[in-house]
Amino acid sequence: MIAGSRRRWALIVHGGAKPMEPGEEQPNREGILAALAAGRAVLEKGGTAIDACEAAIRTLEDLPIFNAGTGSALNAAGGIEMCAGLMDGRDRQVGSVAAIRNVAHPVSVAKRLLPEKEIVLVGDGAALFAREHGFEYVPDAALRTEKMVLEHEHDTVGAVALDQSGNFAAGTSTGGLSGSRVGRIGDSPLPGSGLYADNEVGAVSFSGDGESIARLVLASQVMATIAKDGPEESIRKAVRQLPPLGGDGGGIAIDRRGNIGWHHNSPAFVVAFASSDAPEPKAYLSKEEERRV
Ligand code: ASP
Repeated sequence: MIAGSRRRWALIVHGGAKPMEPGEEQPNREGILAALAAGRAVLEKGGTAIDACEAAIRTLEDLPIFNAGTGSALNAAGGIEMCAGLMDGRDRQVGSVAAIRNVAHPVSVAKRLLPEKEIVLVGDGAALFAREHGFEYVPDAALRTEKMVLEHEHDTVGAVALDQSGNFAAGTSTGGLSGSRVGRIGDSPLPGSGLYADNEVGAVSFSGDGESIARLVLASQVMATIAKDGPEESIRKAVRQLPPLGGDGGGIAIDRRGNIGWHHNSPAFVVAFASSDAPEPKAYLSKEEERRV
């Protein structure tokens, strides 16, 4: 635990590195603020960083405007396969599900996996684990939205939290990239790529082109540089490496001292954040918007 961290909390959530279509600004802003409110309620009550990340991400999974849970992207076969991960900075335990089908809240299945030995369950195995642990079967039709039938953009959701006991957590949830091969997974369920949390260092969560993020193990890079560069610069340097490999992205992070940072090179990156030091919620659709206001 960080010295002097007791009673301090911090939370940042994102709704994806993506282009922003006209008319989508308002629902994105409202949705990300709702997710922030759900997560901070946990932290303000003294709850854990893991529970805060889950609460924030579940809110986004329920909102069809975001590509996670309801509103997930469709793969090449027109089906929905989702990925989600949670990492606990206390013990670096990981719970991830990859290419899971027919659940409303992949992040909660990931959370249920945290105490188990396995860190990632995939496909039928992940769905079986969900059923065995009481997660309801949800048909694709209930998760599918008109928007995703038409769309080809990416927008994983994610959260990073520091709780009042000085513990960090990071989470991700995504419907993946539209039109992907059946069975494809990206960075989101992979520790070191899409997310990482370690109480001695901080926590980070990414969105963007999953293959490139995974090839660069971007979360691991941020964990190596965040103490020196700070969260914002550390993410800026990380996403700068994406275009040469293909694509773009964005990331959110909190360092060991509770400093919040985010950056992106996608056209938009929807974020909201607050902390015990700066409790007024802030929400932005891009870095450019933050600079303007
Ligand atoms: N990173 C996710 C994936 O590749 C997509 C996204 O961030 O939108 O599955």
